[in-house]
Amino acid sequence: MNNFYPGPSKVYESVPKLVKKAYNKGILSVNHRSPTFQKVYHKAVILLKEKLKIPAEYEVYFTSSATECWEIIAQSLIKENSIHLYNGAFGEKWFKYTSKLKGEAKALTFNLDSEPEAQSYQQDTICLTINETSNGTRVPLASLSAIRATNPDALVAVDATSSMAGQYIPFDKADICYASVQKCFGLPAGLGIMICSPKAIARAEEIGERAHYNSLLFVRENALKYQTHYTPNVLSIYLLMATLKKHGGIDKVDKLIQQRYESWLTFFSRYSQLQMLTGNTNVQSRTVLAIKAEAATIDKMKKKAISKGIILGNGYGKWKEDTFRIANFPAIKDKEISNLEKFLKSFFK
Ligand SMILES: *Cc1c(COP(=O)(O)O)cnc(C)c1O
Repeated sequence: MNNFYPGPSKVYESVPKLVKKAYNKGILSVNHRSPTFQKVYHKAVILLKEKLKIPAEYEVYFTSSATECWEIIAQSLIKENSIHLYNGAFGEKWFKYTSKLKGEAKALTFNLDSEPEAQSYQQDTICLTINETSNGTRVPLASLSAIRATNPDALVAVDATSSMAGQYIPFDKADICYASVQKCFGLPAGLGIMICSPKAIARAEEIGERAHYNSLLFVRENALKYQTHYTPNVLSIYLLMATLKKHGGIDKVDKLIQQRYESWLTFFSRYSQLQMLTGNTNVQSRTVLAIKAEAATIDKMKKKAISKGIILGNGYGKWKEDTFRIANFPAIKDKEISNLEKFLKSFFK
């Protein structure tokens, strides 16, 4: 199958071999308080920091998902209230979850073709979805930097679930940044990665919230011992470590993703039936492409694609009917991209 679904998405072809290796090494049933596990954990963190260029003073924690990070931020890091700047379904979900835990959460939406405004916000935490998987938009890095600069006292929390490990992220422009492994990391679902700045850690200490199994302070106490606050998906942490070791650093990956994105733009520009959902290239996601077409065309195309062994991503939320999505994730191979191009060429002939 040629899988272009933007999550869960195609996993690296090395995964079956690595699972076997993990099994043979006894990793699948290892105790999560044992030195063997701690070694895998520690190595995974070292490699994450090195390959993704995470500042040395930032800390990395493992969670069960990106969704869990929404909850951890709300319970352990937001002091009084947060502001959520978003234009799509994931940003909205984050806002809604937070509202249930911290009633004062505020939403400020912007449209598909624009960027969130870099004004001075009153709230103590600013929540940004920098790669909106539902509609294929991104917050440009300059915009993230400007928001950070105009709000020196606030924490900047960033959902990078569908761009981390595919696009370079300037972690120093955020205090909290999280993702899960079933998108750009090319791994099976079931593991979240949360990265915190010293300022975020200081905020957690100031609040001192310890009422939950996943209170950030408790998560951190375990992480400092290379352990987790729950019995983790050990296999996934092992796979993360092993695949990071194999693959190049983020600069190289970012370049490849950018090149493939540009060639997709050129490709789609030849078809009047297909339009990028947002025409503003500055805010188009590089890792998730959302393409607009007639609902009937999309329906036909997706069915035909399946019969050719190609899975296209459905539209999401209010763009369900009249868009489809294509993951531009690192695990996808050149050959698969050319298969999809060939298919689209013949479909629109
Ligand atoms: C996929 C996704 C999530 C949810 O990730 P889970 O691992 O399922 O919790 C959150 N935010 C964004 C932007 C996503 O793409």
